[in-house]
Amino acid sequence: MTIPTETNAIRFHQTGGPEVLKWETVKLAAPNAGEVTLRNKACGLNFIDTYHRSGLYPVQLPSGIGLEGAGIVEALGPGVTSLKVGDRVAYCAAPLGSYAEWRNYPADKLVKIPDSIDFNTAAAMMLQGMTVEYLIRRTYTVKPGDIVLFHAAAGGVGSIAVQWLKALGATVIGTAGGKEKCAIAKSLGADHVIDYRAEAGSDHWVKRVKELTDGKGVHVVYDGVGKDTCIPSMDCLRPRGYLVTFGNASGPVPAIEPLLLSQKGSLFLTRPTLMAYTATRADLELSANALIDVVSKGTVKINIGHTYALKDAAQAQRDLEARKTTGSVVLLP
Ligand code: NDP
Repeated sequence: MTIPTETNAIRFHQTGGPEVLKWETVKLAAPNAGEVTLRNKACGLNFIDTYHRSGLYPVQLPSGIGLEGAGIVEALGPGVTSLKVGDRVAYCAAPLGSYAEWRNYPADKLVKIPDSIDFNTAAAMMLQGMTVEYLIRRTYTVKPGDIVLFHAAAGGVGSIAVQWLKALGATVIGTAGGKEKCAIAKSLGADHVIDYRAEAGSDHWVKRVKELTDGKGVHVVYDGVGKDTCIPSMDCLRPRGYLVTFGNASGPVPAIEPLLLSQKGSLFLTRPTLMAYTATRADLELSANALIDVVSKGTVKINIGHTYALKDAAQAQRDLEARKTTGSVVLLP
């Protein structure tokens, strides 16, 4: 395969709405030491991409965008011995720039993908699936019999989490917005699904969680929704329960006083990131291998709800932010 000297990529020069994302032609240099040149076959869309674009998570501009992709190694930079040309690989970490047809990328952050997993699935599963891995196995270790509340259960992270939690033997209470999304969460295996948008405010879904747990509350809440759900979620927990706040889909969570954790029942609070749980090569492999294992066995099915042409990434982000998507979303170069 002849490697081009230029490639098309989505880039942005200022923060703002989806309209700041531009389809541009950029130079493709030879890979530096420790890097490979990748031909991306599919790119993953994640909520974090919208935080980079909006400026909630600041990045130096101008910049590429996107953390996740799957493709083929087409050239090796000096010193790369762990991979060969033709390897099928996937990734979900910085540097930003996965929304591109071709790119250079550090070899030590790539994971080889078995032939049984196609590129679209690989691009859809890495970031959201490894997030689920660390959340339910390492942040709070879910045990058989635990009762878990997982918000946005029909979304990308949520769809994978519901299936994996069931495989661990948990009772899963999912929340989702609207009938269609509730039906999806139920079909994935959730024991109970609450439409948290059916009524305004949080009283109704907090009350329902209490009813479903005989007034005791759940062992752990996983909350990627953020501002709208995080504080009320404390009232869904049993004493000494775990509140895992891991995202800001509705906006960042306001400050929480430690005394509130005491008043709500000696709760544990953590705000983890995938980056911290996959910072070493050993942790990256542990997480990726566990994910590849559950997907290869069919324990977890990756639900690709939508695909878009890569050049239409702005529309894909618009739809994600407008709560129009379900499952994972893949962008195709
Ligand atoms: P999703 O596919 O779950 O999309 C977000 C969902 O959040 C929406 O579909 C919607 O579901 C729900 N939501 C609730 N309120 C809002 C709102 N005001 N605006 C938009 N969406 C809302 O996205 P991802 O799977 O990519 O990510 C889920 C969350 O996990 C995000 O917050 C993300 O940042 C976080 N995350 C954190 C990681 C970490 O390591 N800390 C790693 C990966 C993801 P509904 O309509 O059902 O309410």
